[in-house]
Amino acid sequence: MPEHVLIILNQPSVDAPAHDPEAAPFAITDIGQPHLSVMDLAATRGDGVFETLSVCGGYPQAFDHHLARFARSAAMLDLPAPDLVVWAAAIRAAVVELDAADESFVKIVLSRGVEGGHVPTGWVYAAHSPDHTEARTAGISVVTLDRGYRHDVASTSPWLLAGAKTLSYAVNKAAMREAERRGADDVVFVSSDGILLEGPTSTLVYRRGDTMVTPDPALGVLDGTTQANLFRFAEARGMTTAFERPALGELLGADAAWLVSSVRLVAPIRRIDAVDVPIDATLTGAMNEHLLGLRE
Ligand code: PLP
Repeated sequence: MPEHVLIILNQPSVDAPAHDPEAAPFAITDIGQPHLSVMDLAATRGDGVFETLSVCGGYPQAFDHHLARFARSAAMLDLPAPDLVVWAAAIRAAVVELDAADESFVKIVLSRGVEGGHVPTGWVYAAHSPDHTEARTAGISVVTLDRGYRHDVASTSPWLLAGAKTLSYAVNKAAMREAERRGADDVVFVSSDGILLEGPTSTLVYRRGDTMVTPDPALGVLDGTTQANLFRFAEARGMTTAFERPALGELLGADAAWLVSSVRLVAPIRRIDAVDVPIDATLTGAMNEHLLGLRE
């Protein structure tokens, strides 16, 4: 069985023509062969959307939440609506085809297609996940970086696509390199008016007493699937949960904080802007164990 699987969608959207009207909705293809046109808007403009799902013990996690967010992101970019039935079947086919592993991931991509054309491009890629044990146990150091937008950017300037999972991640990658230059592992973005937002590829979650807090998605941050699973976990343990508009200062005052995301899962923050902060190792371990055990 392969360690990488690539599936190309023949008709990623019912609102657009198929690439080949005679062919099946999707097909497993040879990953060693070229598939993407150099004129695809995914490559030339980052004009598309994506999702990355964790697959634990063969089960894709937060399946419906990822698909709903995929459709929402596509709508924010005025892309043809993804045919979620076909995408769901393609994801499941990729997972079945992949060589079994404790932890894998599936990345799904929908672009506007080749420039000047009318057919969107869609693919599903599955592979084994890297080992994130160290980030999950020893923790990560973060720097806070100004994202350069006010906290209300999503409502004042929806064309900036805050909160959509677009293929345009060059800014997020640049922020990660800035963190590295400053000797840190990751980033917590802050709005230009001092509100905590999210990481470049993760959601910020912190504990204040018995309350688990995350920045409100209305702030133009991604509606996190991992965070949603962790809120359900916290509530089942009797904790309360809250979506807030937290000021920067709240992070240093938190009892524990994490950057959470699919694949890496829960990474406890051990240092913020060169200040050491305590890790809640017990709760972190329980959260990661919970996520790794999810079978939906
Ligand atoms: N915020 C951003 C900007 C992200 O890119 C991601 C994931 O890649 C997340 C948050 C976390 O989302 P999820 O937990 O659904 O993976």
